Amino acid sequence: MSRGHDIEVPVLIVGGSMVGMSTALLLGHHGVRSLVVEHHRGTAIHPRAASVTQRTMEIFRSVGIEQTVRTKSEAQFVQDAGVVGAETLAGGATAHYIANFNDGIRDLSPTVRVFLSQNALEPTLKESAESHGAEMRFATECVSIEQDAAGVSAVIRHRDSGESQTVRAQYLIAADGAHSRIRQQLGVRMLGHGSFSKSVTIYFRANLRSFLEGKLWAVVYANHPQLRGFFRFEKPFESAFLVVNTTGDAARPNVNVSDGFTTESALEMVRTAIGVADIPVTIENVMHWRATADTAERFRVGRIFIAGDAAHVMPPTGGWGGNTGVQDAHNLAWKFALVLQGIASESLLSTYEAERHPVAELTVEQAYTRYVLRTDPSMPRGNMQAPVNDLDIELGYVYRSPGVIAEGADTPLHLNPRESRGLPGTRAPHYWLQRDGQQVSTLDLFARNFTLLAATDGQPWCESAIRAAKDSGLPLTVLRLGLNGLRDAQGGFAAAYGLEPSGCVLVRPDGFVAWRAINSTGASAARLSEVLRSILSRNS
Ligand SMILES: Cc1cc2nc3c(=O)[nH]c(=O)nc-3n(C[C@H](O)[C@H](O)[C@H](O)COP(=O)(O)OP(=O)(O)OC[C@H]3O[C@@H](n4cnc5c(N)ncnc54)[C@H](O)[C@@H]3O)c2cc1C
Repeated sequence: MSRGHDIEVPVLIVGGSMVGMSTALLLGHHGVRSLVVEHHRGTAIHPRAASVTQRTMEIFRSVGIEQTVRTKSEAQFVQDAGVVGAETLAGGATAHYIANFNDGIRDLSPTVRVFLSQNALEPTLKESAESHGAEMRFATECVSIEQDAAGVSAVIRHRDSGESQTVRAQYLIAADGAHSRIRQQLGVRMLGHGSFSKSVTIYFRANLRSFLEGKLWAVVYANHPQLRGFFRFEKPFESAFLVVNTTGDAARPNVNVSDGFTTESALEMVRTAIGVADIPVTIENVMHWRATADTAERFRVGRIFIAGDAAHVMPPTGGWGGNTGVQDAHNLAWKFALVLQGIASESLLSTYEAERHPVAELTVEQAYTRYVLRTDPSMPRGNMQAPVNDLDIELGYVYRSPGVIAEGADTPLHLNPRESRGLPGTRAPHYWLQRDGQQVSTLDLFARNFTLLAATDGQPWCESAIRAAKDSGLPLTVLRLGLNGLRDAQGGFAAAYGLEPSGCVLVRPDGFVAWRAINSTGASAARLSEVLRSILSRNS
């Protein structure tokens, strides 16, 4: 216990839902202790998020929970199910947004997209975060914060006992959701399209087997003359939820579904969207929320970092809200670790906002575009982005900051992941190698430290890297194909990473390419020291 404070911890996380717990887990993976305080008495009770992108699954794989998530998903959802549109469930699909969740994308990653609802995912995040040393306090609120040049002081209070404690942390992460009090206290505005519907999520029970068995449908957008929204279905098709965003005439819809909403309205809407007037339905719960598409103008104020829905709110069209927050956490965790260890300069933390803000804004805009196209075509389109391929959003987002040594001035914000080929700022591509006779994805080589991976003739870079890492104190994994038990059986690694056989790539602990050398020209420890200094924001 420090003088004057009850608890001292490197990182305090306010909000212990999907993003707060992911942050604690990823920090723990990098050896950083954190304390999470969460207002609720336990993990999520409502399903909310379920679509887990390939990128989030890659992140989960890096911390050892991919298989648990896949096993839970198999129990809960039809695998590879798609996203379709229909006037009513009984009437069948009239639009196919994603026919099969994993068709045409399996080769891009060692893992797949899955559906797993938030209330099933969060216990796994909690257990894993705790096993990585995080402390979670439920039924505990953060009631005040204050920051100074050296850290953040907070008061936390247990909701039942009323007991308060003071916490001193070097950094605070606000993962306190869309209505983030911390963001508001910091005076950070949300910018974008604002809220455009007072929506409801109706959780209900009904026997839906005859409509769903044998079909690959996880999400069905309901485009009925009387209501627009979407269903999401879990096995064994005895319960589901229906989101309703608008009602009435689709050309001039009522966007305030929430006010005056009753159990009778819920029953009627569920039956209408199913398309069977007398089907037995039990309403279990109704959640009221606002469909919003906004991004915080800043993701950092001093020692406080804003992540997840607190930093960006988007409609669920696309299924990206929670995924985007997990990626915020993944971007931040290794940076905190290196700064707290004194290996990187504090300025490395500024790359969080530089990298994540444009990507979050793009994702928010694309979710908005899909909302307009799928749910409320009456909305004005003048300020709407053209749709971008889902894969660009999920795997192809690009980081542009001093944390990357860019090639050329105009790196785009997103790229088709099939075409990025190791370009600095992009996610390092998945490529199957052999390690000690076993198949291993390149992605599995990058999970914790910075990694310099050289093609078969890249020995000069490996030697330089070992010397440069020693000088800088940076834990750096140095690997070369043909050595370290690693073999490129298909002979395509260099091409997949845009290298010649004597080239190499430097990958960050979050699996993003920081720098590459196409061939061995200029290979020296001095050059690599300069590269590391620049990426770690160190002056000398
Ligand atoms: C119907 C629906 C479907 C969705 N589907 C998907 C999907 O398929 N895929 C996807 O990625 N996303 C989806 N989303 C979005 C996803 O649910 C959110 O993006 C995600 O929950 C954000 O997580 P978060 O941790 O940032 O915020 P939240 O889940 O809002 O958590 C914030 C937490 O902070 C706590 N808190 C706030 N203030 C304090 C305080 N002062 N002290 C202590 N605790 C505090 C709150 O109690 C809360 O638990 C969906 C959303 C909805 C509504």
